[in-house]
Amino acid sequence: MMYQSPRITVEQLADGIAKFTFNAEGSVNKFDQQTLADCKAALEQLQQDKSVTGVLFTSGKDNFIVGADITEFLPVFQRDEQELIPWIKQASDVFDLCEDLPVPTVVAIRGFALGGGCEWTLACDYRVGDSSTKIGLPEVKLGLMPGFGGTVRLPRIIGADNAMEWITTGKDRNAVKAQQEGLIDAVTAPEKLEAVALSMLQDAIAGKLNWQQKRAVKLQPLKLNKTEATMSFSTAKGMVFATAGKHYPAPMVAVQTIEAAAGLDRAGAMALENQGFAKLAKTDAATAQIGLFLNDQLIKGKAKKAAKTASKAVNKAAVLGAGIMGGGIAYQSASKGVPAVMKDINQQALELGMGEATKLLAKQVERGRLDAVGMAKVIASITPSLSYESVKDADIVVEAVVENPKIKGAVLKETEALLSDDAILTSNTSTISINSLAENLSRPQNFCGMHFFNPVHRMPLVEVIRGKDTSEETVAAVVAYAAKMGKSPIVVNDCPGFFVNRVLFPYFAGFSKLVLDGADFTQIDKVMEKQFGWPMGPAYLLDVVGLDTAFHCTDVMAAGFPTRMAKLDNDPVAAMYQANRYGQKNGFGFYAYSKDAKGKPKKAVDDASRELLAGICHSATEFSAEDIIARTMVPMINETIRCLEEGIVASAAEADMGLIYGLGFPPFRGGPLRYVDTLGLANFVALADKYAHLGEIYQVTDKTRAMAADGQRFFP
Ligand code: NAD
Repeated sequence: MMYQSPRITVEQLADGIAKFTFNAEGSVNKFDQQTLADCKAALEQLQQDKSVTGVLFTSGKDNFIVGADITEFLPVFQRDEQELIPWIKQASDVFDLCEDLPVPTVVAIRGFALGGGCEWTLACDYRVGDSSTKIGLPEVKLGLMPGFGGTVRLPRIIGADNAMEWITTGKDRNAVKAQQEGLIDAVTAPEKLEAVALSMLQDAIAGKLNWQQKRAVKLQPLKLNKTEATMSFSTAKGMVFATAGKHYPAPMVAVQTIEAAAGLDRAGAMALENQGFAKLAKTDAATAQIGLFLNDQLIKGKAKKAAKTASKAVNKAAVLGAGIMGGGIAYQSASKGVPAVMKDINQQALELGMGEATKLLAKQVERGRLDAVGMAKVIASITPSLSYESVKDADIVVEAVVENPKIKGAVLKETEALLSDDAILTSNTSTISINSLAENLSRPQNFCGMHFFNPVHRMPLVEVIRGKDTSEETVAAVVAYAAKMGKSPIVVNDCPGFFVNRVLFPYFAGFSKLVLDGADFTQIDKVMEKQFGWPMGPAYLLDVVGLDTAFHCTDVMAAGFPTRMAKLDNDPVAAMYQANRYGQKNGFGFYAYSKDAKGKPKKAVDDASRELLAGICHSATEFSAEDIIARTMVPMINETIRCLEEGIVASAAEADMGLIYGLGFPPFRGGPLRYVDTLGLANFVALADKYAHLGEIYQVTDKTRAMAADGQRFFP
């Protein structure tokens, strides 16, 4: 063995070839500080060893290298920008060391080579992939840009246009696509991967391949004349501006860095990359997006653990109700390999449910994600039925009938009687207390809430609601089933609105009060979309949710929190509902809706809704964007904090993810609690105090005030 550490081995093969294998002790290879230090030591040894003729880089695992160790980022990023530059340079120097080995290098890329993993391959002379290869630079998804030479080497290997596309979108490629774009030099079958890479290395050593020339291109300025450069960079900047927008600075900084470095050699270009990386590392967007990644890992980790402690594995599901939600749930279950019976009392609903599933599957086939056989298999695994008998063998039942406590109670009771003793029963209710529904059951320990979001196939969140009698084994089995369905489950305790709707309604109340005080709802939407970053402003969201649904939910919330969430006099939501303006579903809400060329709803301002509001609201009054944001967001944040304090949601991480996955909270802000940390808790308290006279939803809890006084944060 030429070199050995718990992460890397270098062994001698025949003819002076060294085989450098990444094989960390955990499940994946990643670039943490220790691995980088090991790489440096191993490379220095190889550099000095005159007997070495070439180096083959490979992995001892199913994946090459998944990227940098993201858990190390946030503590380091607290340093000053000027301190971060040498920190990242020290790492990128190791990649230069790899590139500067005095002998040819070839890398065999199995599975993922992402971020730093991809950048390692760029530092090699030749790259060989197989059918498992997935290669790319996803750093922008963390609010960053490549920092180990990716912005320097990729444009010099595949051209600036292609490289900017890779880097600014963060999308990975398979080996064939990467070969077409000029990154990968050979694609082979997985069982031949190492042999092909080795043979390529032998050819390079024998002088049959001009590796010196290939390497030299990466050390020089980009080969672009002035006109090409102007075209290339102005197109890229235009694209990035249109797609990423002002809230996501990383793609633009990456393009600007590549542009500024175009005329420089490697050392000059690398210095600019180091600076660009350090600049982005200090942005709030990077902190938020890295936080999201870590929170998501936490949720995935909990789901994995749940699968181990679950009372039973779910292999057969049944859904009661084939409406908007039931149809979506049955489709999602079947498409992830858990067959589902879909039971309704209405034949037409069943037909509609099957029709929707077919449409969604056809779209997947159209996009090349599924073939016709796969589609037929999924459809065959959804069994529409009018009979209760059909659900009796299910491991889990998801009840999604109409939102009526009496009907739900009767349906749950009847279903429980048919099921085996260990079967799990869940309800997709949006508002009815899980504890009160459990009163209808003789096995409440096997019952909990399983709250999906609309549209089911698109929204990642499932709230798993633990009732007072629900067993932990039941919770675990439902979490595991939700994860199997490709969803992100978050466990919450029972309360009115559960977690997501409980924090959504104070936000709607903040909106309603603003409108009553004379704010223009279109201006509120514009501020909340363009400045705050929500996918839809509150008026539009209410139209999409349905003003009838929202109206009924305000009743439930008012009953649950009689002082804080009491019904408002002249609530615009109630006024819309009473005027039969239910939103998108019947074409009229705050906005009026028509269909666009593709048949999708298109909103327009409607005089009738303005007139309706004029009758109940204060005369038109100007509000600043700051006012609008504070008056809607403070109630949402305060309620999120209350849920955390009351243990409705277990952690700040899960609270933030719940709103990101369930409501589309702007990801670049990281979630409501990360947003407060960015503002500073003391600043948030001062802001809320300014509006405290507007009502209880604006008033911070005593604990929040104490935390602020103590300089605490929600995240470390
Ligand atoms: P829906 O009206 O579209 O569908 C309800 C279906 O239940 C209908 O097809 C009806 O025929 C059927 N049904 C009624 N009684 C039944 C019975 N005894 N047995 C079997 N089927 C029966 O309603 P939806 O929007 O799908 O909502 C269903 C549930 O999901 C509700 O509890 C709702 O609060 C909840 N939910 C809805 C949304 C949403 O955005 N629509 C989001 C989350 C949760």
